[in-house]
Amino acid sequence: MAQYEAVIGLEIHVELKTNTKIFCTSATEFGVDPNAHVCPGCMGMPGVLPVLNKQVVEYAIRAGLALNCTIADFTRFDRKHYYYPDLPCNYQISQNYFPIAKNGYVEIETEKGKKKIGITKAHMEEDAGKLVHQGNIATTPYSLVDYNRAGMPLIEIVSEPDIRTPEEARAYAEKLRSIIQYTGVSDCRMEEGSLRCDVNVSVRPVGTTELGTKTEIKNLNSFKAIQKATEYEIERQIDILEEGGSIVQETRTWDDNKGITISMRTKEEAHDYRYFPDPDLVPLVIDREWVESIKATLPELPDRRKSRYISEYGLPEYDAIILTQTKETADYFEDCLKVFPNPKTVSNWIMGDLTRLLNANNMEISECKIKPQQLAEMLKMMDRGTISGKIAKTVFEEMFTSGKDPGTIVKEKGLVQISDEGAIAAIVEEVIAKNPKSVEDFRNGKDKAIGFLVGQVMKASKGKANPALVNKLLREKL
Ligand SMILES: [Zn+2]
Repeated sequence: MAQYEAVIGLEIHVELKTNTKIFCTSATEFGVDPNAHVCPGCMGMPGVLPVLNKQVVEYAIRAGLALNCTIADFTRFDRKHYYYPDLPCNYQISQNYFPIAKNGYVEIETEKGKKKIGITKAHMEEDAGKLVHQGNIATTPYSLVDYNRAGMPLIEIVSEPDIRTPEEARAYAEKLRSIIQYTGVSDCRMEEGSLRCDVNVSVRPVGTTELGTKTEIKNLNSFKAIQKATEYEIERQIDILEEGGSIVQETRTWDDNKGITISMRTKEEAHDYRYFPDPDLVPLVIDREWVESIKATLPELPDRRKSRYISEYGLPEYDAIILTQTKETADYFEDCLKVFPNPKTVSNWIMGDLTRLLNANNMEISECKIKPQQLAEMLKMMDRGTISGKIAKTVFEEMFTSGKDPGTIVKEKGLVQISDEGAIAAIVEEVIAKNPKSVEDFRNGKDKAIGFLVGQVMKASKGKANPALVNKLLREKL
């Protein structure tokens, strides 16, 4: 069997977090009643002229700069014509010939090290509305149309076909989301459709440079789906070529339940979009000073922040990658450090107990009741010996559910660590009296036996005895 390699490119649609739509003043709020945020403009009524939202252009420039793109001096909107019931004008206002941003890149981590994935362009466009089918799309007796999404501002980010594996495709999408989130122009919530991904896949024999026929998998809505669908599609294409067949250029959809891609439409049915300049919108000449002023407000992006965590805080690369994946987590980490400046301890708690509880409750760090200052406060209490590490775990869980301060919880539950020698000595005596076998073992040189005795003292004190003191007193008495 010949060796094949895949050639993969991604098109990612990102919904911009503006207050109003791209060409009208309808609100962009998510999760409202169908057709609650519509006006004659975004419903395509004749005679209503589009007025470009300046914030959309600013956000698109901001995203373009974060993706290392060149921002165009001149940009223009085109009409992209096709018929679909959720598109009331029968055309979508998009950019084809003069996109706002071009020639950028994103750096990803691969098994073989860092790799740059080129970005061909990022352009602005309006979203279409949404059809709501009664039951299954194939058998629905009728469909309803919701125009809330019509006219929502999008940027479409098109990668170069630089991606070679499903893992790289996923890493690219994850990195891109991370960067866009840092810039603040979108919340990139895939489950709400504010980040949507199409994947173009072709395969070719290793060593050849000619591109194979590609297929496009539409609307993948999770990172896992991006990876799985790409894996499946590569296998499917290789199987066809191995059997002597040829790939049909087509659009496919991913069935997450069955784990397969399914044909939606072939090239013969493909649209001729008949792009032409939108006569209702004037072309834009982009002011370089404006671009520079946007550039000056870009935050520290994930890669830069990661490197700083390694050099400034001495964190392992793994910690630095995890902590900087989202801006919220990175900000949380740094807010903790302001009160408790021990990076590795803070990192361990965020990556360990905090992440575990967030995952178990299906929550984002922004929804977490424990404020960074509260976590830092708890770590200080551990450091001072007010609470033991074991009690800290209990306090932490309680903080997570109630959002109370660690001091309050410790007081309410009487969890203060016992550091009074007299009180611990009494428990130590009791444990020694009750466990003659272990005492003997220890005296006969079995050093391990002391661990058991320490455990018994901790148990008798309900975990509140200071472990260092317990160790010291036990050894003295024995
Ligand atoms: Zn509107």
